[in-house]
Amino acid sequence: MSTPVRTRFAPSPTGYLHLGGLRTALYTYLYAKKHNGTFILRIEDTDQEREVPGAVELIYKSMRQAGLLYDEGPDVGGDYGPYIQTQRRDIYPKYAWELVERGGAYCCFCTKEDIERKRKEAEARGETYKYDKHCLHNVPLEEAKRRIAAGEPYVIRQNVPTTGKASFDDMLYGHVEVDCDTLDDNVLIKADGLPTYNFANVIDDHLMAITHVTRGTEYLSSAPKYNLLYEAFGWTPPVYMHLTPVMKDATRKLSKRYGDPSFEDLLAQGYLKEAIINFIALLGWAPKDTTEEFFSMDDLIRLFDADGLSKSPAIFNTEKLNWFNAEYVRRMSPEAYEAAARPWLAQVLDPERFDLSRLCELLQGRTEVFNQLPGMVDFLAKMPPLDTELFVHKKSKCTQEIAKEALAFVRPLLVAVPEWTESALHDAVMEAIPASGMKNSQVLWPLRIAITGRAATPGGAFEMAYLLGREETLARLDAAMAAL
Ligand code: GLU
Repeated sequence: MSTPVRTRFAPSPTGYLHLGGLRTALYTYLYAKKHNGTFILRIEDTDQEREVPGAVELIYKSMRQAGLLYDEGPDVGGDYGPYIQTQRRDIYPKYAWELVERGGAYCCFCTKEDIERKRKEAEARGETYKYDKHCLHNVPLEEAKRRIAAGEPYVIRQNVPTTGKASFDDMLYGHVEVDCDTLDDNVLIKADGLPTYNFANVIDDHLMAITHVTRGTEYLSSAPKYNLLYEAFGWTPPVYMHLTPVMKDATRKLSKRYGDPSFEDLLAQGYLKEAIINFIALLGWAPKDTTEEFFSMDDLIRLFDADGLSKSPAIFNTEKLNWFNAEYVRRMSPEAYEAAARPWLAQVLDPERFDLSRLCELLQGRTEVFNQLPGMVDFLAKMPPLDTELFVHKKSKCTQEIAKEALAFVRPLLVAVPEWTESALHDAVMEAIPASGMKNSQVLWPLRIAITGRAATPGGAFEMAYLLGREETLARLDAAMAAL
């Protein structure tokens, strides 16, 4: 029997869950679920300077909202905990010292100033700086131990071989190999006793029995060094899947710094979580043998496979996301739509004053993103300033004079309508038009402009009149006639 699949999403709590991170989390989840494996959340917080307060809680919340439920993690437990790296701080030095004893690492006492000076010298010579193994060659282990016991600050560095090759296997990039002499001796344990990411990820992936590591291509160049650590310990490395970044355009990554939205932002703007997930899943992955574009989480689990991953960076296209969202909105039940739309509508109108289900019926097919709703209906609550130029409509041959005539014609018809329903309004007006000498559009266009003040509305003149009610419709009509 093959080893059970265990994958992990390992964010650093440096802010919100950005969309590239969400996609990594999604693929990591899908891979585990597809193979009946275990999906783990691990918080990588050893770089305490970059930690943002509240970010860990936001990660838990976003993962739940996205439906990426982890089987093991800080707030759900599991047999391989703790799942927060700072809570594992005692584990790492033990392994680092084991490596020191094996010759795979060494203690380094060089100060920041020493390193900075050497870096500058190397740069002045036009070389890429790399630690020169000074302490490996000049500080024997016994002396190192004495200096440490005397309280001298130190770090532990990886002892990368100076010859030979380091390599790893990636599901997308295949066998990747680099010359060891191009690799730097990374710090594994910092002066504060905490591990660097470079060390902690290896120790934790091993101790948590991770079989597949999914992460961004920014780690591609470090992966050979991680494998040297696995080798030095005599451990089996995981299988890697390095994912291309999600880009804003051809040159720059999505980034909060430039105002690109996070997952939370998109939810707050009124995107549906299912639409976001569907859209994100297809940023850099495509299922084989189908042209279908709509996938539920269950579909994704069934279809996901690493062969469908792309090596070209994915571009985040807001129009495409909006299109997906509109499609998902259209597929909602009327009840679900109304429940989702209500808070947005309530921002600008009193939901009790209007026939909300009728309004929602009109809006559902026109909704791309829920945050557009207030701007689509605010005229119902309050008539916007009327621009009489709007009455002019070339195609309908409508002028301000015709509009004036049309409104005068239509007003008594509305007054006489027995019951204020869309069909009664429709019948009363449409039956009278032929005798008026005007075209339908020469009446309906001015009527709609007069009572809404807008060229674009979520329905026609009768629907808008019905929603506004008799009194408000007639009042707006009178005001428009006075303005013309
Ligand atoms: N903590 C790393 C990050 O947030 C994750 C890298 C990994 O998955 O190994 O970028």
